Amino acid sequence: RSLGLTHRLFSSSPTSSYTNANLPTTTKLYINGEFIESQATTHYDVINPATQEIVTKVPQATPQELQEAVRSAQLAFKEWRRTSVLTRQRKMLDLQYLIRQNMDLLAASIVQEQGKVFSDAQGDVMRGLQVVESLTGIPELMMGNKLEVSKDMDTYSIREPLGVVAGICPFNFPAMIPLWMFPVALAAGNTMLLKPSEKDPGATMILAQLAEEVGIPKGVLNIVHGAHDTVNFLTSDPAIKAVSFVGGDKAGKYIYERSAAHGKRAQCNMGAKNHCIVLPDANKDHAINAIAGAAFGAAGQRCMALSVAVFVGKSQEWIDQLVEQAKKLQVNGGMEPGADLGPMITKQALQRAHQLIESSATQQSASVILDGRSVKVEKYPSGNFLGPTIIDNVTKDMSCYKEEIFGPVLSIVRVDTLDEAIEFINKNPYGNGASIFTRSGAAGRKFQSEIEAGQVGINVPIPVPLPMFSFTGNKGSFLGDANFYGRSGINFYTQLKTVTSLWRKDDAAVAEDSKPSVH
Ligand code: NAD
Repeated sequence: RSLGLTHRLFSSSPTSSYTNANLPTTTKLYINGEFIESQATTHYDVINPATQEIVTKVPQATPQELQEAVRSAQLAFKEWRRTSVLTRQRKMLDLQYLIRQNMDLLAASIVQEQGKVFSDAQGDVMRGLQVVESLTGIPELMMGNKLEVSKDMDTYSIREPLGVVAGICPFNFPAMIPLWMFPVALAAGNTMLLKPSEKDPGATMILAQLAEEVGIPKGVLNIVHGAHDTVNFLTSDPAIKAVSFVGGDKAGKYIYERSAAHGKRAQCNMGAKNHCIVLPDANKDHAINAIAGAAFGAAGQRCMALSVAVFVGKSQEWIDQLVEQAKKLQVNGGMEPGADLGPMITKQALQRAHQLIESSATQQSASVILDGRSVKVEKYPSGNFLGPTIIDNVTKDMSCYKEEIFGPVLSIVRVDTLDEAIEFINKNPYGNGASIFTRSGAAGRKFQSEIEAGQVGINVPIPVPLPMFSFTGNKGSFLGDANFYGRSGINFYTQLKTVTSLWRKDDAAVAEDSKPSVH
């Protein structure tokens, strides 16, 4: 069943800041089961990165609206925590069905606001959908342990929800990341305030309506908008027990510290610099295709995008083939047939990528062997496009290496041995993902055990674990201890209660004696 959703999610009567009736609509808040117009005085433009059209305006929710959202979540928690785990399992079964039915609607919203190509946008939804599917196993995920610890004495643990929790999302996966958060929190019995990125809230709004359609009660999920003010509220309000964040380093560190200072648990997934190693014994065509897809797909705006390829010894002879492969990729608007990568999110992000490429091209010893800066996309002349770019002979001190570019830019490092390659990668402060291309099981195993990255790929360029596991970035890419989704995600959103009980066998006789007489 596909829903005719958009009319409820956006207002057609702009707020006082926008008096011209032809201006775009504003995105609504979702508080206590109602899609409501914010009384905000500040709004953020959501700009289609391919066309520069303003798609909608996102309100900075007022303090009063944020208070209302948290109050409604507190009230809703009283009932929601008492729903049976089977009821919550059923909601997840229904939600995954509706997401699947509305996949193209969600993907189209992502293309419009975020810019990625339609097939990538479908993948964005699919990866989030898989989390919801995994939550249909919530009864088993919520199970505790039990042990007879002494004569007549048992200790058992119960997983209980925390209460009201909050989620703060980045722009780059508008469906997947909200789906890493709210279904897990809700299935575990919590209620939530979720803040999508102010750059692309559309997919979250559709998901909120799908949650309503499956009967998630009012107040259990609330969508609040805004930027810093909303983040400050979510990380300090005493009713909020835990904060999930995915985004960049600056915001992540701030949110982690501020949440901790206010006594909340926090999980913060942050930036990355993901490397791969190419050994000369690798399957050449597989490695080259995989690297091109992982470096330039989604315009490099994936936290697990491959941004550094370390070519060992003779594999350096394949770099020309990688350049040829990258040249074949089609840069275009996300809905155009055959498009491989779309625009970057903002003009500022594009400009920053240009500067980082420029710094390596002019001031440093590296060479730009494929330069995407002059790419022209006829149909979208004002889009934020950057073509695939490859910088060769990159060293660890260059700014194009030290900084996360978050665009379709691949740095190439040349070394002589596998040991040198591993040592080079381990010196990087980030630890999200790393992969190796080789036909040698021994080399793959050595890499797996020596590499300091949380998600390791062997002949797999973007090793993001499916949700029966968890997303396990580490080092500078993560703050906290419980990871997103999987068992670890459930641990984050629950606390353990351990009960020790003594039921003396001798007392059973008393129970016998006190049975009511049947005569
Ligand atoms: P961002 O940090 O700019 O924004 C993320 C969220 O934080 C947004 O909701 C935003 O409103 C808020 N925010 C931004 N700056 C803030 C500040 N100074 N104080 C308080 N709140 C602030 O990130 P982004 O540009 O939307 O997303 C891209 C980043 O996210 C990249 O660094 C990417 O690597 C990272 N990311 C990481 C993962 C992961 O799992 N490790 C996944 C996706 C994206």
